[in-house]
Amino acid sequence: MKYMTRRQALRLAGCATAAIPLTALLGRETLAEDLPQLDPEDDTAKAVAYVHASENPEQLCSNCHLYTGEADSEWGPCAIFPEKAVNAIGWYKSWVKKTV
Ligand code: SF4
Repeated sequence: MKYMTRRQALRLAGCATAAIPLTALLGRETLAEDLPQLDPEDDTAKAVAYVHASENPEQLCSNCHLYTGEADSEWGPCAIFPEKAVNAIGWYKSWVKKTV
């Protein structure tokens, strides 16, 4: 039976520790569809005049560069509202056209 040297054990522990945040991020990505929907009455949402339905069909959350939801999803994450999902047809005054 081959035993690990102390150096090998420490190296393995370091790799395992470094892998934890990556795993957490991957898990968070998987759960994006399960995020609670942003409430327009939320103080932060009100402060930026977020609405669930844009009045301008050319300016939607789904084509904003801060929206990271899937192209065909009704709701998705936005960098401005962590841990919440915004409506794909939503909007607020800091909308910026997606370039990619
Ligand atoms: S920044 Fe505003 S407009 Fe852009 S996706 Fe987020 S909520 Fe929608």
